[in-house]
Amino acid sequence: MKLYNLKEHQEQVSFGQAVRQGLGRNQGLFFPSELPQFSDIDALLEMDFVTRSSKILSAFIGDELSEETVSQMVDSAFQFPAPINKLRDGVYALELFHGPTLAFKDFGGRFMAQSLAAVTADSESDITILTATSGDTGAAVAHAFYGMDNIKVVILYPKGKISPLQEKMFCTLGKNITTVAVNGTFDDCQALVKQAFDDAELRKEVGLNSANSINISRLMAQICYYFEAVAQLPKAEREQLVISVPSGNFGNLTAGLLAKSLGLPVKRFIAATNENDTVPRYLQTGEWSPKVTVPTISNAMDVSQPNNWPRIEELCQLKGWGLNELGYGAVTDEQTAETLKQMTAEGYLCEPHGAIAYRILNEQLNDGETGLFLCTAHPAKFKEVVDEILDKDIPLPGPLAKHNAMELLSLERDNDFEAVKAVLRSVQS
Ligand SMILES: *Cc1c(COP(=O)(O)O)cnc(C)c1O
Repeated sequence: MKLYNLKEHQEQVSFGQAVRQGLGRNQGLFFPSELPQFSDIDALLEMDFVTRSSKILSAFIGDELSEETVSQMVDSAFQFPAPINKLRDGVYALELFHGPTLAFKDFGGRFMAQSLAAVTADSESDITILTATSGDTGAAVAHAFYGMDNIKVVILYPKGKISPLQEKMFCTLGKNITTVAVNGTFDDCQALVKQAFDDAELRKEVGLNSANSINISRLMAQICYYFEAVAQLPKAEREQLVISVPSGNFGNLTAGLLAKSLGLPVKRFIAATNENDTVPRYLQTGEWSPKVTVPTISNAMDVSQPNNWPRIEELCQLKGWGLNELGYGAVTDEQTAETLKQMTAEGYLCEPHGAIAYRILNEQLNDGETGLFLCTAHPAKFKEVVDEILDKDIPLPGPLAKHNAMELLSLERDNDFEAVKAVLRSVQS
């Protein structure tokens, strides 16, 4: 299947190109030129997660990668479940945090890594993923590419400026993952990365790639867990389904709408945000007027210019869905904390992002509807905030505890481009 650039429709690329490039000309996002349709959704829902997901993804990329390759990619990427958890009659949590870095980004990140490996498998040159992190993205990238022979990963982070637990999550892996503690700030790290990408000779020599967060392969992977959620619902509760999605860059909601376009029965989606509420205000007033981003306790959603939004507009337009069919709502930190306490009292331990989705779902769910809200991170991933609000000391789950006990393997370098260049060359030799 071809994909086109939303800013310059005449730019058409293959899946392989879209995965390697990330963005099109003029920073345009890629979008599939055909949307597959599944006529027998019930049959699809009968399948197991990996088989079903391979079918779904093959419908998009089957002309470029064999069904066997796709199913191997899915098998390696989705090695953890996406269970639903019933809170009460008609209300379910979809838990997307059972992967290695305890957040839903493991699904997209790991499938993107598999995709990049698959579309570059025959190429002569090596690939080096270079990225800077202030903590959150580093772990997802490192774990997604860990153990891949033809792809090396170099992650820069500011020494002493990320939490010790975060550092342990991605600086203990070794193999093809090299982490560099830079004597400087996060901005210094980002500047070093930019300098490397601006160096055409170096870029070619070590095959630099950014494994960008707007990569289309991520969204395709995320479609699959919406099907997995519905497959676990009792049949009687599948018809009037409302899904609430805690949103920042709106990749997750884009994937949900794509799932619906393939034929998944979803009555309504709800776009749930924190006080960075550009989209809820837009849906209410029709005016797109981003404000300055404000920090919140649901900080993975602190985005005021959500860059996946053009994909949602395109999809709704193609399908003839009015934007007014979307539910929406925005929640303050105070309300988030209140909801977390309420959920705990109801017997479910959550974290701020999931709590926002739950709160708005509760407010907007009608009689006879079934509600599903997405839990995008494990509560321990936001331990400091959750402990304080709930006055608890929640335990670290297995993967975090395991890495916490391992030795740090990071190199230490000064804020110096030549030093970073030397690291990039050394990982490829
Ligand atoms: C990234 C993230 C979100 C926001 O997802 P988008 O796809 O960017 O809308 C929500 N919750 C958590 C925990 C995240 O890491």
